[in-house]
Amino acid sequence: MRIPLDRQSEIPVYEQIEKTLRKNILSGNLAPETRLPGTRTLAEELGVSRITVKNAYAWLESDGLIATRAGSGTYVLAQEEIGAVPKLDKTIPWPLWQQQFYREEPPPVGPARPQRDRLQLIQFTGVGDPDQFPLRDFTKSLLAVLRRDGVAALEYGDFNGGHLPLRRTIAHILASQGIQARPENILVTSGSQQALSLICQVLLKAGDVILVEKPTYNFALELFRDLGYIVEGIPIDGNGMRVEDLELLLQQAHPKLIYTIPNFQNPSGVCMSSPRRRQLLALSDRYNIPILEDDFAGDLRYDGRTQPAIKGLDNGGRVIYTGTFSKMLMPGLRMGFLLADGPIFARLVEHKRVHDLATSSLLQRTLDEYVTVGRYQAHLRRSCRVYSKRREAMLAAIGRHLPKEVTVDPPQGGLFIWLRLPEGIPSPELLEAALEEGVEFAPGTRFFPDPAEGERYLRLNFATQPPENIEAGIRRLGKAMKYKGVSSDHW
Ligand code: PMP
Repeated sequence: MRIPLDRQSEIPVYEQIEKTLRKNILSGNLAPETRLPGTRTLAEELGVSRITVKNAYAWLESDGLIATRAGSGTYVLAQEEIGAVPKLDKTIPWPLWQQQFYREEPPPVGPARPQRDRLQLIQFTGVGDPDQFPLRDFTKSLLAVLRRDGVAALEYGDFNGGHLPLRRTIAHILASQGIQARPENILVTSGSQQALSLICQVLLKAGDVILVEKPTYNFALELFRDLGYIVEGIPIDGNGMRVEDLELLLQQAHPKLIYTIPNFQNPSGVCMSSPRRRQLLALSDRYNIPILEDDFAGDLRYDGRTQPAIKGLDNGGRVIYTGTFSKMLMPGLRMGFLLADGPIFARLVEHKRVHDLATSSLLQRTLDEYVTVGRYQAHLRRSCRVYSKRREAMLAAIGRHLPKEVTVDPPQGGLFIWLRLPEGIPSPELLEAALEEGVEFAPGTRFFPDPAEGERYLRLNFATQPPENIEAGIRRLGKAMKYKGVSSDHW
């Protein structure tokens, strides 16, 4: 047992031992029924006399924190306050270096809390529906891997890109999407968020400009801000990024990277048209700027024609592609990947290795076992069936319960419906009223480099809730809009 002792201190050693044990018992770190070391053992470990330890134990015993049981040992007793970590002593100021981290404002993004608890909150946020996660099959795969690979599954694994069989499997999946990928060019990452972070850190430094769609994925925006980049936005329309507007910006802003989500964009749900994909690639070539293609949900198509991946059109290492198993399987896997050709690949592998050594070998093996037995495709088909019904349910509910001035562009896949509000109700304000009614959405302000531009938008995730909740949730949203004075003759 590690108990820090200060032998120069005026506080007697027995009291120091007693205080440390007391703190750990009251905070729950030492759980009830934990057996404490015998007095002789602890005295030897700490280099103190046995009587010192006995004194410390006696104080704790007299306060009802521990009990000695004859012939058995000394045990921690259950406390009413167990689990409550003692409050920090506010009279001791934080060290100076901590003070730079003070934040006046709460973090810009964070889960909003419902203000009314009599209603169960219906959340149109998050990723997929946990009820759709393939729990049973995945458990079987996990056990199969442990039985098959034994301790090899518990090593760090391959530092040079990840578990090779999984990279082969990913290459097969990509081939079915028209992307010719060699396993040697695939790096398995801890979610595609890590892939975004690695790519940016290798290509950009603080103060560099990154181009993004406007709106774009909120946690990419947060990442770019955190890394100190200047974020410039290019507007989108029903065909994705307005690539026509791009050239001028490339000339003026000299960006180091173009970040795009061409399929079922987060948050707008739109897909970039094929001509624009080609045009974007041509511009990247002409201006010598890499493209980061984030294909987070490209497989979740419910109708319409598939567009070629920009990476699939690239034959010269201009595009770095990222994908994830978070949306198609489950986000808690933290399993994503990047595909990069050319000398940058080795640099990305090295960057990943020095920053987090490796992505869980056990989970990589399990994912590979799960995917190769063909369940992945079946699971994907099932998810598409379920989610497309939910999309229909949400569009119908919007038609029934929201004012006619609210406009949406029905997405052909993915997870999101992007809603444009009539003038006059900023979406963060509407969120407050919506939470009161028991429904949560993501306000548009989170998705723009300049948050004010997002005030008239909100994002609804239709995939997370079953149809009956979708109906109830959109009805609640309608009520919140009414309350916020979205007056309309068209209700
Ligand atoms: N890209 C987009 C567009 C996303 O929406 C997300 C997660 N919501 C990610 C990347 C990162 O996902 P993950 O790290 O779970 O793979």
